Amino acid sequence: MDNEAFRQWSRTAADWGADYRANLRERPVRAQTKPGDIIRQIADAAPEAGEAMEAIFADFERIIPDGITHWQHPRFFAYFPANAAPVSVIADYLVTSVAAQCMLWQTSPAATELETRVVDWLRQALGLPDGFAGVIQDSASTATLAAVLVMREKALGWKGNSEGLAAHGAVRVYASKQVHTSIDRAIWIAGIGEANLVRIPTKGPLNGMDPEALDAAIRADLESGHIPAGVIACTGGTSIGACDPIAEVAAVVKAHGLYLHVDAAWAGSAMICPEFRTLWKGVEEADSVVFNPHKWLGANFDCSVQFIKSPEDQVRTLAIQPEYLKTHGHDGIVNYSEWSVPLGRRFRALKLWFLMRYHGLEGLRTMIRNHVRWSEELAERIAAEPDFEIVSKPVLSLFSFRHKGRGDSDQHNIALVNAINDDGRIYLTQTRVDGRIAIRFQAGQFEMTRDDADTAFTVITEIARTWN
Ligand code: PLP
Repeated sequence: MDNEAFRQWSRTAADWGADYRANLRERPVRAQTKPGDIIRQIADAAPEAGEAMEAIFADFERIIPDGITHWQHPRFFAYFPANAAPVSVIADYLVTSVAAQCMLWQTSPAATELETRVVDWLRQALGLPDGFAGVIQDSASTATLAAVLVMREKALGWKGNSEGLAAHGAVRVYASKQVHTSIDRAIWIAGIGEANLVRIPTKGPLNGMDPEALDAAIRADLESGHIPAGVIACTGGTSIGACDPIAEVAAVVKAHGLYLHVDAAWAGSAMICPEFRTLWKGVEEADSVVFNPHKWLGANFDCSVQFIKSPEDQVRTLAIQPEYLKTHGHDGIVNYSEWSVPLGRRFRALKLWFLMRYHGLEGLRTMIRNHVRWSEELAERIAAEPDFEIVSKPVLSLFSFRHKGRGDSDQHNIALVNAINDDGRIYLTQTRVDGRIAIRFQAGQFEMTRDDADTAFTVITEIARTWN
């Protein structure tokens, strides 16, 4: 492709993106295609001869958008949001055009130095003390894996990477049942094994880990000759927003000299608002904290920030420096790939820089406060409906509810979720609370308005009513 064609098609793509965003409310939120609908329309082998861009672009428009679930739709209330604020998309156009590989300082000094700066902007915005350094990871799953590897290495006297785990006793990690499955996967990949992920019971309105039970579990493991390594606490668990009492958990962790990682992948964005910080009170005691600006804050996927007290420990765990990756002659530089599992890195700092400068922290706070308020209002309206019950109260902008239908309640609520999503005006998902299905709602989409919350109420009650 020559540069003129590149220019023209880039403009066409940008125009398409702007039109797409402008008309999102007219689309069903969840893709309404059936399995196989898309693949049937794609040739079963690559063409031998190149094709015209006109044909490729026309096929994109004909086949792809209808097969997309529209995560930027203002009435996307499922999972957690994956907000891509327009300004961060513009930053990513630039990043994609420049297409630098940012694994080392010298492979793109601007990417490294901007990353250092914007991650520190975020640290300040979240109210974390300046003892934390930070790095942008691709996902919270990767950040948690890095934290688990560090806690494992520290517990094994830095010998796990070299000797393997067989030479040692069982490494133990502690978490409640409310943590995200990325914690289980980190434990598997780190070779610790699910059997050594000790589940601590929860209690209280926020379904937080019981610190006394945590202490007892660690003591029992020490007596049995196991090797306690660390605790993974959550602020804003995926299912119902569970929050562990970080200060109390941290006191137990410190007393036993263990490592504390806090997963605030979703709720972390809300901590730019000081009034929500009680949910992670004591977080300054953590060794590692992860949150995803690619969820609620508006930096398009992927962009997960990990704050770390001791980057030296993470580098000691993950860095490998063959000659071909060495950067001779530069003192005091940071090579962020040494803080991460993958070597290659995208230039992710640019979208954070654009996002925070364009909206300002106050603009982002207003968005988050609105979502929390609209979600609370919706929960109140649903609670007042005769056939509905609130299952978990709002934690920030997440709550769950159940419709009391005839017959089996689980089947009924799953069928209701499916009917709501087939309708297309809104999109939400289900979860399981105390063994029973509940319908999960979270408000968080960047372009959402209060009218969208009203529409959610109308759709939920209207469809449920037709079933009575
Ligand atoms: N932690 C929590 C609490 C989550 O809700 C999620 C995803 O929804 C994750 C971790 C995993 O995030 P990622 O997709 O960035 O790995």
